[in-house]
Amino acid sequence: MKSILTVGSVAFDSVKTPFGEVSRVVAGAATYFSIAASFFTDVRLVGVVGDDFLDDHLSVFTDRRVDLDGLQRVAGETFRWRGEYSSDLNARETIYTHLNVFEDFSPRIPDRFQTTPFVFLANIHPALQLEVLEQVKQPELVALDTMNYWIEGTPAELQKVLGRVNVLVINDSEARQLSGEANLVKAARIIQGMGPERVVIKRGEYGVLMTKPDGFFAVPGLPLDRVCDPTGAGDTFAGGFVGFLAAATQITDQAVNQAVIAGSVMASFAVEEFGLDRLLTLTDMEIKQRFGAFKRLTHFDEL
Ligand code: AMP
Repeated sequence: MKSILTVGSVAFDSVKTPFGEVSRVVAGAATYFSIAASFFTDVRLVGVVGDDFLDDHLSVFTDRRVDLDGLQRVAGETFRWRGEYSSDLNARETIYTHLNVFEDFSPRIPDRFQTTPFVFLANIHPALQLEVLEQVKQPELVALDTMNYWIEGTPAELQKVLGRVNVLVINDSEARQLSGEANLVKAARIIQGMGPERVVIKRGEYGVLMTKPDGFFAVPGLPLDRVCDPTGAGDTFAGGFVGFLAAATQITDQAVNQAVIAGSVMASFAVEEFGLDRLLTLTDMEIKQRFGAFKRLTHFDEL
């Protein structure tokens, strides 16, 4: 079992969906990722919070395999984000993004984290993602997330970091934007040409499409009767995906396919409650059972 280093946002989120509203809850891309991945292996989190982030707020990490030695606390306010969802939960409007302490953040990877074999660069400025890669020593696998903001705003830096990663985890609209191609199959191949050997495209409730050396692997989203808040589903998917691979004895084609299921399982739980709530009560047994649900959903006999 290998550990994972992740760098990204630890935040206070406010979220409104047709099912309710929460205000100033602990969240952030690196938080969702770490908690999901910690069900599979040890995680080392690097990020920054402000002095309004109290010890109590850290309780989401209590008794989990998340090492917080790389989480700096500095004077100022913690990163804040507010999102509101449409009635079918498929569209989201960002009401505000307050970078706050993230504005002057420069990731410092503690010495003992620098040889971590797996690295997940959560959605932050690609120049910061590059700074992280400069500090880590020969990782076995680097995975990256990004968003429209960086695709539009910092394309040169993004191309540079894409040239240095093994896996890109990205959502469908961002894959289309990055490649300039509407067809997702073609978009994925174009993005592979930018560097990553594997491109994993998250399609929200429709599931996931992943490139393979000889084709594609795809799974539908699990039909759920309770979807409350999709925030963090992408980061949670990434946590399950990278977490599963880091725990695998070998990264075979089969293990990568199973990792897509692990990511889908974790994301399917995350959306059932607001914020981190569902992940915080989740058990290993429930994860195992939902693997079974995915198997039953997609299994059929050949003619
Ligand atoms: P997702 O729903 O996967 O897009 O992730 C939502 C999480 O990402 C929330 O908890 C936010 O706090 C965080 N987030 C939103 N915008 C940004 C940003 N520009 N940089 C870093 N984290 C962000």
